[in-house]
Amino acid sequence: MRLCRFDDDRLGAVRGREVYDITALRDQALATVPRDQRGDPLIAILPALTALPETTLEDCRRLGVDAVRLLSPIRFPTKIIAAGDNYRAHYQEMRADPSGSFGHGNADMTKAGLFLKAVTSLVGPSEGIAVRFPERRTDHEVELVAVIGTKGADIPRAAALEYVAGYCLGLDITVRGPEDRSFRKSIDTYTVLGPWFVTADEVDPRDVHLALYLNGELKQDAATSELVNDVARIIEYASSFYTLFPGDLIYTGTPAGVGPIRAGDRLRAEGRGIGVMDVAVRAWPEKHA
Ligand code: MN
Repeated sequence: MRLCRFDDDRLGAVRGREVYDITALRDQALATVPRDQRGDPLIAILPALTALPETTLEDCRRLGVDAVRLLSPIRFPTKIIAAGDNYRAHYQEMRADPSGSFGHGNADMTKAGLFLKAVTSLVGPSEGIAVRFPERRTDHEVELVAVIGTKGADIPRAAALEYVAGYCLGLDITVRGPEDRSFRKSIDTYTVLGPWFVTADEVDPRDVHLALYLNGELKQDAATSELVNDVARIIEYASSFYTLFPGDLIYTGTPAGVGPIRAGDRLRAEGRGIGVMDVAVRAWPEKHA
C-alpha cells in the first residue's frame, strides 16, 4: 500500500496516478490511538488502513497524483537518524572534497557513527528546499529511507527488517564544511521525505535503484545493493544506541554524484518500486505562514 499526506494534512491511498482520499477513515482510526503514545500516529493506525476493504476505497473521492501538494508522509518522527559515507564511491568523492566535510569521515560505521538530523528540517516534496547559505556549497543527496514500525532497542540484524513499516525516498540536503554533520544538515527544509510511504511488503530494501536529476540531468544513479551497511545493519547499530519508535526515519546514505544546488534548480528523485518526486529549490528567506 502507498500512502501520501497531501494538501491540508489529508491522507491518500496512492494507486497508479490516482490518490484516494481516505482522510475521514484515518481520523476515525486515530481516535483509537492513546494520546501518550510516542511516535508517528500514521504508523499506529497502519494495520487499520492496510485492512480497508476494496469497496470502502472505491467510495472515496479520487484526485490525480499531479493535482495534489505532497507533504512529508511522516509528520512526527521522534528522530531522524542518518548514515554517512555508506557507498564506497561517495566515500571516495568526499575524501577529495576540500571544504573540510570529510573531517568526520570514516568508511567504518562503528567508528564514524551515525548522526541525527533535526525533525524541524523535515518537509515534503511540494514544500521545496530554501537555500539558506548561497555562498556555501550546498549539495543534494538522494537516499532510501526506512520508516520504523515497531518500538525496539538492541535489535539483532537478523530481525531488523521486521521493525520496518515501510520505505520512502529522501533528500539529505547538506551544507559542506567543517562543522558537525547534524548542524550542517538540520537547516529548515534540508530533509525532504516523499513522495509517499510504501509499506514494507512492497519493497526489497537490498535492491532499490536510486536516481537524482538536477534540472533534467542525471547526477546520481546507484542501487541500494551497493550499500556498505545495509538497512538491517544500520537498524541494528542505531538501536544499540537509541530506542527506536514508530515513525523514526533512517536515512541510509547517498551514493556518488552529489553536487551543488542553487535557488531556481529543480530536483527529481526516483526510487524504483517507490516513486518519483519533484522538488523545487528556492532562496532564503522563508516566507513563514
Ligand atoms: Mn546523507
